[in-house]
Amino acid sequence: MPWQEAKDKLTYVRQHGVDQFIQHYRRHATKQRDTLLYGDEIEYGLFKLSSDGASLSLRGDEVRSLLSNREAEERRAIPESGKVTWHPEYGSWMVESTPEKPYSGYTDDLRRVESSMRSRRARLLMALKDDEVAPTVVAFPLLGASNDELPRNGPVASSVLVPDEVINPHPRFGALTKNIRERRGSNVEVVAPLFQDDNTTGDAIKADAMAFGMGCCCLQVTFQCRDVDESRHVYDQLAVLAPIMMALTAATPILAGKLQDHDCRWDIVSQSVDDRTSDERRTTMSSSSKGDKRLAGSGTRKLRTSRYAAAASYVCRRCDLHSCAARYNDVDVEVDESALQKLQREGIDDLLATHVAHLFVRDPLVIFDGLCEEVDDNTQTDHFENLQSTNWNSVRWKPPPADSQIGWRVELRTMEVQLTDFENAAFTVFCVLVLRVLLSFDLNIYVPMSKVHENMDRAHSRGAASQQKFWWRSHMVVPGEPCTGDKEESVVEMTLLEILTGKGGYYPGLVPLVLVYLDSIGCDPDTASRVQAYVDLIVKRASGELQTAAAWQRDFVRQHPDYKKDSVVTPTIARDLLQRCHAIGVGDVHEPSLLGENVVAPVRKENAYNVQLSRVHFQTSSSLCTLLDQYAERALLVKKRKAVVEDVARLRNELDEKEKELKELNDALEPSNGVQRSPSLNRLHSEEGENLAVTLERMRGISESLEPAPGDGV
Ligand code: ADP
Ligand code: MG
Ligand code: MG
Ligand code: MG
Repeated sequence: MPWQEAKDKLTYVRQHGVDQFIQHYRRHATKQRDTLLYGDEIEYGLFKLSSDGASLSLRGDEVRSLLSNREAEERRAIPESGKVTWHPEYGSWMVESTPEKPYSGYTDDLRRVESSMRSRRARLLMALKDDEVAPTVVAFPLLGASNDELPRNGPVASSVLVPDEVINPHPRFGALTKNIRERRGSNVEVVAPLFQDDNTTGDAIKADAMAFGMGCCCLQVTFQCRDVDESRHVYDQLAVLAPIMMALTAATPILAGKLQDHDCRWDIVSQSVDDRTSDERRTTMSSSSKGDKRLAGSGTRKLRTSRYAAAASYVCRRCDLHSCAARYNDVDVEVDESALQKLQREGIDDLLATHVAHLFVRDPLVIFDGLCEEVDDNTQTDHFENLQSTNWNSVRWKPPPADSQIGWRVELRTMEVQLTDFENAAFTVFCVLVLRVLLSFDLNIYVPMSKVHENMDRAHSRGAASQQKFWWRSHMVVPGEPCTGDKEESVVEMTLLEILTGKGGYYPGLVPLVLVYLDSIGCDPDTASRVQAYVDLIVKRASGELQTAAAWQRDFVRQHPDYKKDSVVTPTIARDLLQRCHAIGVGDVHEPSLLGENVVAPVRKENAYNVQLSRVHFQTSSSLCTLLDQYAERALLVKKRKAVVEDVARLRNELDEKEKELKELNDALEPSNGVQRSPSLNRLHSEEGENLAVTLERMRGISESLEPAPGDGV
């Protein structure tokens, strides 16, 4: 529905969204799933390289359907060979992959993560044309700065920088783009700090479309929890981990053809989907505007953040052991009052009611004609999902989908996609293990929510991975300790290296905890050594021994011969960067400053799919015979070659021996010519030379005085 029509349905969708949540929550509140399941999402960009630069390849949809069809074919033939689910993404140059089935809670599966990612990359390679690459970079460096001929100022994004063609053709994506703009009352405005180099002019990079943010690729991980309470606890822990995982994976040094002074994408995305009215964005308390009654909060409720933001409040209600989430909720969370009251009236506790009522301070952005009053609140959750799926937060709490076996899940959404699957797997596995540690050892990492927000800001800064400090809990609360025993000073500033490896005698560090955990479950050695490589990588990112993708890419640009020290990423620099990133991703080029000694084994399209040991039919028996003859001939040649190789080796040996002998003889004959005299001669000359001369003299003397006796000779 166009926004003007949709406006009349907004209130309906919001109200029924809350109702649907309440019903759904009741139906699933006792749902339990004992197995840990988790899965990642990786987003890819498709780019075309040419002699004068690089451009977007707007084939995301085509590539996705080609790969999905091939996947279905594979599964029909050999069910186990299905490996990937391909998903559409915002940009028409993007695709997303997830493992076909989530990984499960066995150590083996920790190793499956990387191999799944590698298969997915191999399959994607299969769909590329000769001039295309698909490196896992966060953003297309030239977005809004390339000189393609597509018209700007399209009806959807109304952008002077990018054409509407960059938006995925599925109606949802265009509608999101247009409605955000219309609700806001103006184009979105993206502003990022410009990296300052010798010849840089200006101090900001500006962009004007959703594509600049939603066109960023990321790495997300979703975890299934045992039950609703565990999912709430996990949500809180991941909310605290979110900023530090973003800093460690920082990979966004370029925006719209320029180097930015930030390392991460989050702020860019946040601004690119900011649908708040100017009234909602105000910094003063009161507003005189009447607003529009049809909008959430009449469009005049002051809102701190865009709908793409860090988690707003903690939700765990387990006060029995240690969590006491409520005490750490020190940020004023905007809520839809009527939603909050309804949720509370229906018996939802305050923490969860606040979380849900906060989702509903936003409007539904896309309403499909015929899917509004028609949705059955008793069985469906479309209206709740409408709000839920467009509150793009650092962590998402995912109630079980309607009609499925899936349990309560939580998704971590802040990580930036890495150039190689070794790294993507490293970060995925690390998150899995940190969560296992927190759950098994009954630890928590709460810091006040305001500090988490500060950490999100800090994570953006250039070099944050090794240089920034973050608010962190210095004493992990031990089981059974009452939550009132917590002191102010238990939250201190630490570097990521300290957060990972420990500080003082009181804070053990996440990495030692992970290693102790693996030890205590008796992890198999293969997995343990793989995990060791993963955590080594992460620790080295924090120590600065290895670079983040952001630092490495910024350096690549600055060292490029075409770079003019003006923070501008030219088309040829962008092309070379994309090509190099692709080569690193598929293991053609090893980049020690990023990966250390971890060499990525080549990812090849030829290995993308399983090949069946099928029956082969030859057209004629003579063609089979020809082939057999060729192989027989080849076998003969191989045998012959082997004999010749042996002969050559033997002769070479003999030759070596002879040459050695010759050399010794030469040395013996021409001691002064030799580089080194033979030891016996040496000794004679130096020590016994005098004696020898005397002896010879004497012998000569004797021989002169002695006449040979006649007949003495033969
Ligand atoms: P979204 O885009 O809404 O975040 P996706 O379907 O793209 O969702 O990704 C969901 C992720 O969750 C995938 O990696 C998938 O493997 C994983 N997943 C699916 N089922 C489960 C489950 N029961 N528990 C945990 N993770 C799951
Ligand atoms: Mg997804
Ligand atoms: Mg996605
Ligand atoms: Mg996701």
